[in-house]
Amino acid sequence: MPKDKIVEIPEFIVVRELANLMEASPIEVIKQLMNAGVMANINQQIDYDTAAIIAEEMGFEPRPMAPPEEEITVAEEVRPVKEQFYAEDRPEDLVPRPPVVTLLGHVDHGKTTILDAIRNTNVWAKEAGGITQHIGAYQVEVDGRKITFIDTPGHEAFTAMRARGAQVTDIAVLVVAADDGVMPQTREAIGHARAAGVPILVAINKMDLPNANPERVKQQLSEEGLVVEDWGGDVMCVEISATQGTGLRELLDSILVLAEFSNITANPNREAVGTVIEARLDRRRGPVATLLVRNGTLHQGDALLIDDIYGRVRAMFDFRGQVVKEAPPSMPVEVLGLSGVPRAGDTFRVVEDERKAREMAEERAREKEQQTGAPPRTLTLEDLFQQMQAGEVKELRIILKADVQGSLEPVATSLQRLSTDELKVKILYQGTGHITKSDVMLAAASQAIVIGFNVEPDRAARNLAEAEGVDIRTYDLIYRVIEDVDKALKGLLEPEYHEVVLGHAEVRAVFHISGRGNVAGCYVTDGVVVRHGLARVRRGQEVLYEGRVASLRRFTEDVAEVRSGYECGIGLEGFDDFEEGDIIEIYQMEEVSG
Ligand code: GDP
Repeated sequence: MPKDKIVEIPEFIVVRELANLMEASPIEVIKQLMNAGVMANINQQIDYDTAAIIAEEMGFEPRPMAPPEEEITVAEEVRPVKEQFYAEDRPEDLVPRPPVVTLLGHVDHGKTTILDAIRNTNVWAKEAGGITQHIGAYQVEVDGRKITFIDTPGHEAFTAMRARGAQVTDIAVLVVAADDGVMPQTREAIGHARAAGVPILVAINKMDLPNANPERVKQQLSEEGLVVEDWGGDVMCVEISATQGTGLRELLDSILVLAEFSNITANPNREAVGTVIEARLDRRRGPVATLLVRNGTLHQGDALLIDDIYGRVRAMFDFRGQVVKEAPPSMPVEVLGLSGVPRAGDTFRVVEDERKAREMAEERAREKEQQTGAPPRTLTLEDLFQQMQAGEVKELRIILKADVQGSLEPVATSLQRLSTDELKVKILYQGTGHITKSDVMLAAASQAIVIGFNVEPDRAARNLAEAEGVDIRTYDLIYRVIEDVDKALKGLLEPEYHEVVLGHAEVRAVFHISGRGNVAGCYVTDGVVVRHGLARVRRGQEVLYEGRVASLRRFTEDVAEVRSGYECGIGLEGFDDFEEGDIIEIYQMEEVSG
């Protein structure tokens, strides 16, 4: 078979594209499809098998095309840690800090039990003699190296935090029960961790159960694109039993190894910034907040600003309830002395003094009052264009939900194929089932839109989307999804315009026409003057006017254009203050080609 008769066909292909590949008319392809018993229109997707049959019928040798890039690449491209915390530091000031770890996974797979087991078995935690308390985060020490655990497991809390602008997690431990395997929330958790760009470490829990089947779990994980090390991948995986306490040490060691890879650093010698992990009003002690220091060191007595709340660190306690005077990077501390109760996920920072903090907080409160009601803008398909122009968006991120796996794949592949060099389509998470709160939260946190195919948001998801300003779009026809997204992308790639000067006219006399104001009697010195053209009036160095030609006449006749060397009368929209000697410049905006 001659080489040019080979045609590479992707997993799914639109009829039109297939015709293009074979340089055949789409009608011919549709006819062949009909012969094969498939009724399809030109914009319809067909799968590889169908396309291959048609290609063969038309004398081609079909070959499967390599699948498009895995969406795993997302994780590598999204910055793992909020830059705001570290941006200002010089590299030489940065030193390693403890990794901040969150446990994610399906309900009942053992996240809470693992967190408790680690806390209770850690010698360092007990040594100090305090009774460990739940303040939202705790630290353990392994061979002199610390690890910070966020005490509220689950991707909902994780992503809610991100939606508030804070990503505290450096490493996600994905907990999968050995007897139950990968479940819907396991998949969600993977999606959320990837969307956040957080490296994942797998803990297969409940290894003590007789029906534990870690190999099956690894198999299932590989189907999700998480290939563990002993399967030839690069995802670390440990097998543990939280109730028996086995494998926990290995889990901690693995976290430290992964932390080592991830280059987790901070500058302890600067004023502290960080994130509110949780906060409440204590009847005796007033507002109490757990702060996680992300960078710098927090000291007792420091003045704090948290959104519209201010204060001074009156007292600080670690998770064992011990008084501490300072908190270095990655340390969670309970803090007293705030003017109010901040929200989890808010950023705190240390400012010069309490008065300054108060002023700034009050200023912030005033600002907030003025913005009443408006939902926080995230991203809608419509306003992508502006955000792109402002340099805020370089990829269209999508959370994709569909009724069944069979429709998820073709929609996902078609969407991904809309990517261009300038703008990537990134599917942050795809799954089957209704659009849930968790999907919306992920979208809010990741500046993504939610697309539902044959599925709708539930009530909670709808409410949250409204509150967070998340765009949810639902469809029941593939080509409509593709069309909409394609349009949005085309909008983004709308051509740039630049100015092209068409000609100049010099004002030689000014005529007053009753009811219409002044008209300039001109001589066209170069180029051409066109009716409805864009115009500016120059007087010496000054530009007096920018607008449009309202009327253009030669003698008493309206004309479309007047060329160089001729006289004409020019009226402008909203300007008639002409003086002899003014120059009227006529120009137009043209697309920049290429
Ligand atoms: P979470 O919803 O992921 O936080 O799960 P939990 O920590 O609440 O655990 C759910 C159930 O699994 C509880 O009854 C635990 O006792 C049990 N469990 C957790 N870890 C293990 C384990 O290693 N082995 C066994 N047999 N049961 C466990």
